[in-house]
Amino acid sequence: MKHFLANAKNLSMTGLAVVTYEDLSEYTNEYDTNVEPDWQKDIKTESEIQSSVVEGVVALYGSYGKEHKYVMRCRDNTQIVRTHYNQYLSPQELGILVANAKEKTESLEEVSSVGLDNKTMDSVDDAIKFLITSGFTYGVDFSSHNAVDIALSLAPDTLSTLIAEKTMTLNECSECDASDHEWYEREEKIVVSCNCKSVEKEISFKGGLLTLTSSN
Ligand SMILES: [Zn+2]
Repeated sequence: MKHFLANAKNLSMTGLAVVTYEDLSEYTNEYDTNVEPDWQKDIKTESEIQSSVVEGVVALYGSYGKEHKYVMRCRDNTQIVRTHYNQYLSPQELGILVANAKEKTESLEEVSSVGLDNKTMDSVDDAIKFLITSGFTYGVDFSSHNAVDIALSLAPDTLSTLIAEKTMTLNECSECDASDHEWYEREEKIVVSCNCKSVEKEISFKGGLLTLTSSN
């Protein structure tokens, strides 16, 4: 799904609070037309493959033997389709998160009263450049209020792509091979780890490009 709320799971409270009702209905449309039908199709494919695997095993080894029991257990534990689609919040789940965030931030008036210093202005500019380069439209998909939050929420996906394209490598340790390094997102930072150590990196969007810098 190519929507600026596709990674809403990673959005901060303020990022969620400025999501409008138009954004929500657009997300619902996108979800209903793209995610839901694909999901149903993949579930069907998955169960067809499973049935033919089970049939094949029964034909070769007979019913209720250890082979049959084993493939039945595998079938019941299949997670691949579920895991893929669970990354997207359902429109209902997203609606609840947004409503809660609006309620919480309203009392704090956090969203509108943030004083923008020069440093913040620069990071808003950079986040806007990053989002535009990623194919999103200013004023439609995001505003200056939520640009930083949305850019941060998209950072893990972008990083996966950059690593897959070998545009970026995460090699933090001279003892290990670059391919031994794992990474994950934690509280809007990227943690890179290997067998020896784990290093926390700040995410920024200098000149519109995803940039990781050591926090310490
Ligand atoms: Zn290492």
